Amino acid sequence: MATTRKVIIIGSGPAGYTAAIYAARANLAPLMLTGVQAGGQLTLTTLVENYPGFVEGIQGPELMETMRAQAGRFGTEMLAEDATAVDFSRRPFVVRAGAQAFESHTVIIATGASAKLVGLPAESKLMGRGVSTCATCDGFFFKDQNIMVVGGGDSAMEEALYLARLGRKVEVVHRRDALRASKIMQERAFKNPKIEFVWNSALDDVFDVAQGKVTGVRLRNLKTGATAEHPVDGLFIAIGHQPNTQIFRGQVELLPNEYVKVTPGTTRTSVPGVFAAGDVQDHTYRQAVTAAGTGCMAALEAERYLEATQGH
Ligand code: NAP
Repeated sequence: MATTRKVIIIGSGPAGYTAAIYAARANLAPLMLTGVQAGGQLTLTTLVENYPGFVEGIQGPELMETMRAQAGRFGTEMLAEDATAVDFSRRPFVVRAGAQAFESHTVIIATGASAKLVGLPAESKLMGRGVSTCATCDGFFFKDQNIMVVGGGDSAMEEALYLARLGRKVEVVHRRDALRASKIMQERAFKNPKIEFVWNSALDDVFDVAQGKVTGVRLRNLKTGATAEHPVDGLFIAIGHQPNTQIFRGQVELLPNEYVKVTPGTTRTSVPGVFAAGDVQDHTYRQAVTAAGTGCMAALEAERYLEATQGH
């Protein structure tokens, strides 16, 4: 094992890159494991119009490339590897990437969360081209158009209510005949004249991959087996998120929903010296700008921790 690092950042979304920019500018020479697929969830979207600083918006992948270049400019060392295991029970901490092992006095977890998908090939192919997992990000593109939301939980109701302000009509497709969402969210959705429900139904296919945009879907009634085609312009999948915390189980405290538990108002995890930023610890806001904000917090907290424990 080579020299012990001051900071290792795991993950390369807005939280990871922002942590890297701050840590590198504080002379902490961060090592970032970007993951094999760098850039996080924003690389799966197209135009981002709600990240401050870009009057006309910016393409998600371009925004992430810009953040990467900014982190690199200050000397962040980046490795295109997935972290495969960590050991936070010993100090310095150990982070493994396959056969390689790295030691570090602090670790910033910024591995994000992944939106769950139904699993249809067309759904993935049309992601960012009419299929979305974020209404606040992409709803604006479907002003006065027909929108469909898949899911029956609070996220689906929140997305549907938000989209109802923009779209002509919002159909919510749920696989059962009762919602999982809280009563208050259900009532709001039921009361909204623009929101309609399609019960006991599953997404069977999404059209039209050949045209490179969403023109409609085929739904399957799970009780009768009957299928029906619906024309839609925007399809929002809101069936939950999965935080990317598999390798941290048993290493830091996780919440029952598997997100990393942090001390409120900080990025401190249950292990002193290990910090968590971005969606991996945030099941509420999940925005690029809030992720970037907590990435900044994590780097500042790591710096203070190093000062207090290592004298640098
Ligand atoms: P969730 O509560 O787990 O709901 C997921 C929904 O998607 C369920 O209705 C589920 O159906 C459906 N679903 C799951 N997998 C599916 C699949 N493969 N195909 C079709 N449908 C599928 O997730 P969430 O709505 O993201 O909420 C997560 C947590 O955050 C919850 O605790 C929620 O209360 C909270 N939250 C709160 C608010 C708020 O209060 N404003 C907003 C957002 C989230 P079934 O019902 O049949 O299982």
